[in-house]
Parts: sequence; C-alpha cells; structure tokens
Amino acid sequence: MSDAAPDYRQMWTDLGLDLPSHDALLGAVGQMYGDAYLTQENRPEGTGYLDFVLSEVHGLRIKELDDFRKDGGKVVGTFCLYVPEEIVRAAGAWCVGLCAGAEFAYDQVEQIMPRNTCALIKSFMGFKLGKVCPYIQESDMVVGETTCDGKKKAYELLGELHNVHVMELPQLKRDKDMVLWRSEIVELMTKVEELTGKKVTVETLKTAIKEVNDKRRALQRIAATRASSPVPISGKDALLATQIAFYDDVPRFTQMMNVLADELEARVANGTGVAPANAKRILVTGTPMAIPNWKLHDVIEKAGGVVVGEEMCTGSRYYQDLVSEDATTLEQMLDDIAEKYLDINCACFTPNEGRTKDVVRMAKELGADGVIDYTLNFCGLYQMEASTVEKAVQEAGLPVLRIETDYSMEDVGQLSTRVEAFLEML
Ligand code: SF4
Ligand code: SF4
Repeated sequence: MSDAAPDYRQMWTDLGLDLPSHDALLGAVGQMYGDAYLTQENRPEGTGYLDFVLSEVHGLRIKELDDFRKDGGKVVGTFCLYVPEEIVRAAGAWCVGLCAGAEFAYDQVEQIMPRNTCALIKSFMGFKLGKVCPYIQESDMVVGETTCDGKKKAYELLGELHNVHVMELPQLKRDKDMVLWRSEIVELMTKVEELTGKKVTVETLKTAIKEVNDKRRALQRIAATRASSPVPISGKDALLATQIAFYDDVPRFTQMMNVLADELEARVANGTGVAPANAKRILVTGTPMAIPNWKLHDVIEKAGGVVVGEEMCTGSRYYQDLVSEDATTLEQMLDDIAEKYLDINCACFTPNEGRTKDVVRMAKELGADGVIDYTLNFCGLYQMEASTVEKAVQEAGLPVLRIETDYSMEDVGQLSTRVEAFLEML
C-alpha cells in the first residue's frame, strides 16, 4: 500500500518477493482498505495511526525489521495466540504474526493441500508460495503449534520451505497437560536463545512481561469504551488495532493505543459516537480475522449495525488476560506464562466451556443486542462448537446469527442480506 518507494522495491527484491504479484496484492489491499475504512465518518483522530501503519504495512515496518536483522537481530514469526511473545522478546528477538487474511496463489496451494482447507491456512501458504509476504521472509524462525489438524499438517509442508519449530499444545487443561505445556515453553525459550545467542534472564523476562502486558492493557482500555452508547469507535477500527498489535513495534504501539484510548474515553464522557445511539450492537465471536479480512465487520457496519466486541483471537482472547507481574524468579515467571497462555479458550480444547462463558459475559457487559458467530468454511473445530455457543447465547436471552464464509468477496451480497435481516429482527 505504500508508494513503492525505490528503496522498498530493492528491499522486497532482496527478500525474494515476486514484485508483480506483490504489487497486485498491495493494490488489492489498498482498495479494500479504502472501501472499508476511509469511507467511515467521524472516526477518532487516533485512528490516523492505524491508517499510517496500514499504509506502510509492507514498507516502513519491514524496513525496521530489515534494519534490526542487519544489526544482528532475529525475528520470529507466529501463527497462533499460544506462542508467548514474552519469551521471544526476553531472548532479544522480535515477534511478528503471520496469519494472512486474503486469497492468494490458491492454485499453487491446492496442488499440495486439499481444496477444502480453511482460508486462514490456504492464505498463509499462498502468501509463502506466491512470494508476497515480506514478514515470513524476514522471519528467521517460524513457530507453529499443534492446534487444529490442518495447521499441524500445513507446518510440515511449510517446513520444507522455511525454518519451522512446532510447539505441542495439549488439548485438555488438566495438571499433567500444564506440565507438558510448560516444558514446551521452556523448549521454545531454548530455541530462541540458540537463535539469538542471548540468554533469557529474570530481568529480560520481567521487562518483556511488562511490555506485552502494557500492550494488552492499552487494548483493554479501548475495548472498555465500546460498552458505551453511542460507541466511540467502530468495530472495524477496533479490529484493526488488534490486528496491528501482532506485528507493530511493541512500545510504540502501546503508546499510540493509549493516546487513542484517552481520546475514546473523552468521547465517552462527552457522548460522541461513530454510530447513532440506537444502532444495533453486535458481538462477533469465532475464528480469527487476519489482515486484510475486514469483510464481516464491514458488512455489519454498512448495514447500520455497530460491532462492540470480538470474542476471537483478533479480539478479547488476545488481550483480556495478563501474565502476573509478581514473580521474582525465572521458574515462577515461566509458570505464570504457561498458566496465562493455557487459559486461552480456543476450540481446539475439549471441553471449551470458558469460551461460551466469555461470549455470554461479553455480550452482557457490552450491551450487545445480538451475537454473530463467524466461522471459516472447513474449520471443523469452530463449526462443531457453533451449536454450543448458539445454545448458551440463546439461553442468555440473545439472538444469534451463524455465518460460515471465507475470504472471497463473492458472498458479500448474500451476507449483507442475512445481516440486514438479522439487524431488523433485533
Ligand atoms: S483460533 Fe485457536 S488455533 Fe487459531 S489462532 Fe486462535 S488459538 Fe490459535
Ligand atoms: S480457522 Fe479453524 S481450521 Fe483454520 S487454522 Fe484456525 S482452527 Fe484451524
């Protein structure tokens, strides 16, 4: 999306990107961003930072990663919330999220994996095979995890093309699962230490825990303002803030999100909103939405509703819990990190009652009029869990709309019709 400055083009070439394909991708993302974001009215001024970061998504941020690596720094790419950023930072590396939210090079992807694979997996493989993702090219190591079957097998295929380390994530939350999970975190720490040549110490881990907590605290402040009526920020902008949290510089992002939160709190105090006070308020739950997947939020908000929360990995699951800051020993900090991360409520766990409770609690706290359960096609885990979520939300007295979709824009008309009907019914 940046203006293809000559230095960026050389940088992209040096990273092994396919420039014509990359130009096409950036052009498409710019178009989608313009349609979804720049058409909004009365946005908070602080969202200017989000516009800037997005406009430089493959430019300035990649240059920062590039310069960091040229000075000997290491970058670790991740695909899932369970990979602790604190460990990566404490060993002196930087963490970037690699999940992708657009269809790309599916023809190449479908030569090595089934057509009926979820869009998230097909997208990140497509970005790699199509040579359009500078973030994976800047990643010295990619960390996968044994969450769903599709990802597990995709990491084997990705491992043929890139340096991949896979963490074993248990699928239950018993004491013995915690023991396994903690040992996986220790192994990740050793791997990153080997990569950077730096040891994790009490001081570096304490600092990293505080920095990442501060980032989550800033996002919590933004989330809290969305309980107000009128809502001071659109769902689209709040979603974008969480998406950017996965790859922006941590202290800078935290500072800018606190500036945005200050503005939102002032808006709440003086009753300024982005949508009328009577706009129908929607909580969205389900599979993550990686950049540039803004489809459902855009459909809801263009239909006159407003998204007040996301119970998803690009939402509350990312920022609602913090790692304790009380520990004074490395062992205790590792215990605290293991505990916080195993507490995340992904559908790959059984049972996963915590997620259902979170959806109902958030719907009440945020004053939602209805819940939309969003699942990517072919994501068996979230599709299977949808009926449990629906039942719990209905028992709490709220209507639910279940949506299964992918990254294509072909169903936008049909989605709009269903969402409009749902909003009218509320
Ligand atoms: S939905 Fe589950 S597997 Fe996917 S990113 Fe979130 S925690 Fe990881
Ligand atoms: S959306 Fe579902 S199938 Fe796709 S990677 Fe996430 S958990 Fe796996």
